[in-house]
Amino acid sequence: MVGRVYFSAIFPVLVLFSVLTGFPLQGERRSGNAVFCTACSRRISGRYLILQGKPYCSRKCMESALPKCSVCGKPSEKTWVAQDDPRKVFCERCRDLPKCDYCGNVGRRRSDGTVICDSCEREAVSDPSQAQAIFRELRSELRSVFDIGTNHRIRFSIVTPSELARIKKSPLDPRQKGLFQHEKQMRTEQTYNKRTGRTISRKTSVVGEKFSIFVLGNLPPPEFRHAVIHELTHDWMSEYCPQIKDPAVREGTCEFVAWCFLRKTGGRDPAMQAICRRLENNQDPVYGGGFRKMRKIAGSSSPDQSIARLKSFLPGAR
Ligand SMILES: [Zn+2]
Ligand SMILES: [Zn+2]
Ligand SMILES: [Zn+2]
Ligand SMILES: [Zn+2]
Repeated sequence: MVGRVYFSAIFPVLVLFSVLTGFPLQGERRSGNAVFCTACSRRISGRYLILQGKPYCSRKCMESALPKCSVCGKPSEKTWVAQDDPRKVFCERCRDLPKCDYCGNVGRRRSDGTVICDSCEREAVSDPSQAQAIFRELRSELRSVFDIGTNHRIRFSIVTPSELARIKKSPLDPRQKGLFQHEKQMRTEQTYNKRTGRTISRKTSVVGEKFSIFVLGNLPPPEFRHAVIHELTHDWMSEYCPQIKDPAVREGTCEFVAWCFLRKTGGRDPAMQAICRRLENNQDPVYGGGFRKMRKIAGSSSPDQSIARLKSFLPGAR
């Protein structure tokens, strides 16, 4: 079998997608061994196509073996695969359409710059009382699964991206989905000498504390789950290891707990698995770097054992 390359190219690797298939080669049967079409099994005479080392008698047969674009359904020689979900394949034309931030399907860009598809938008946890109920369930689930929790009275609310930015008092990172806030009310008592005006003593004490968790109200359920577990872990850390200031350890711990939780409770749900892969591959130095740091310290094949190791590493954590 003689094969000749008639097209070869180096593809740009996109940030989100990588190349799956190559271009077909052309082969020609000269003499000797019989060649059979991979798709229709017919014996081939003369010229034929080779794709990934396999012979095809016609373009139609070759196309039947090509991956189909997840958006337009057309078979394509040159395809890109979504990095967090290998089942999603895009042709060159559909590759650049905006993709849903949560599931990778084609979506539309919202005014805050995020992209969402119709099905994720339909499922989004946007009803405040439904969100409260899921929050309470997740809080008790996290406690029963990993014994992670506090007795704080947490005020939970769902918010819009602009509200979250206002609460945070800084522009929102488009990847941020939630926020944990621990406010302390302090009182300082000062006694001083009336005659000289000199301070004799000063005592500062905490007179009240407020714990709040805010999560975006436009998240599909698996993303909501991840965001709530992440923020609940901040609450737990605020009680048991408030002395940890390194942002990579703080955020890395929250991501690591969420990753263990999703792995333990998500089963084979592809959306949960996609979130886990995203946490593993996050290139952000604080979130992704922190996650990998904690995984290196505490990671084990079992989520329970990982959490036990994590607790023995964190000072103050039970
Ligand atoms: Zn054929
Ligand atoms: Zn397409
Ligand atoms: Zn989606
Ligand atoms: Zn965080």
